[in-house]
Amino acid sequence: AKQAGGASLAFFTQDILVEASSRLTIAAELKRAILENELELYLQPQLDSASGEVVGAEALLRWNHPVKGFLTPAAFIDVAEQTRAIRLVTGWLVKESFSIIKRWEQAGRDLFLSFNISALDLADNELLLRMTEELEQQQIKPANIELEIVESAIIENFQSASAILSKLREIGFHVAIDDFGTGYSSLAYLDKLPVDKLKIDREFTSKLELGEGAGIVKSIVDLASNFDLRVLAEGVETLEQEQLLKQLGCQRVQGFYYSKPIPLAEFEQKYLLPQA
Ligand code: C2E
Ligand code: CA
Ligand code: CA
Ligand code: CA
Repeated sequence: AKQAGGASLAFFTQDILVEASSRLTIAAELKRAILENELELYLQPQLDSASGEVVGAEALLRWNHPVKGFLTPAAFIDVAEQTRAIRLVTGWLVKESFSIIKRWEQAGRDLFLSFNISALDLADNELLLRMTEELEQQQIKPANIELEIVESAIIENFQSASAILSKLREIGFHVAIDDFGTGYSSLAYLDKLPVDKLKIDREFTSKLELGEGAGIVKSIVDLASNFDLRVLAEGVETLEQEQLLKQLGCQRVQGFYYSKPIPLAEFEQKYLLPQA
């Protein structure tokens, strides 16, 4: 028994080592990926549900890895968020997003772009500094940039996170709570959160047809209206969901029903050029 225990302990230790080294590898590789231009943004449109007009887009990260191929965030974003590598990624996102908005503005288009940030980005002033610097350089309309963050990432580190988000909003940037309804969703916090928009999680949108999600969606829509926030439903996949969301008063929609996330060039061709 002693020997078996020792052996499994050895395996256990090895697993941890393998896991730790693969984490380090991903973190180090992300550094290289940024230098070598391997990261790419896919854009998914966000629409006004009444007019059907595209009003903005969410930027979703993709990694063209030289060996592992085309990677979605599931393959690397958790690890990045657990290491300082996420700072590099977010720094890259700031530069990319601002230059995309700059180009759209120069083309006379007033669409916004949102990108995802993580808890670590709100632990100190780095993001705020980068956003301010980039704004100074690119001179875009700050309201055309939106940050998406999950509620737990704000609440875990409330003092620092809310101070930073407040400053960003004072400058004119927008903030959205991502995956709303799945986290704390505490009313006690909601009126203290420095945000502009609630994004209703796909979980509730997908239950609408079963008649299950409607109560929750309606509550979130009312909540948003009472707190003077915008509200968007994520993960819309069917006409029926769209119709129900309209009935429930949800202003904004996003999901495969309208478009999957697509490469930037394709997005611009579809949604920007025809009207430019
Ligand atoms: P998220 O922010 O909640 O993004 C929505 C995810 O749902 C995206 O997956 C999107 O492709 C997918 N989606 C959109 N519409 C539909 C739909 O109608 N049906 C279904 N089934 N799925 C839909 P993706 O691109 O794989 O991203 C996964 C997560 O990775 C994101 O969830 C976000 O948390 C994270 N992520 C993506 N890009 C970034 C980034 O640049 N930085 C950070 N920190 N996280 C990111
Ligand atoms: Ca998001
Ligand atoms: Ca989401
Ligand atoms: Ca999510």
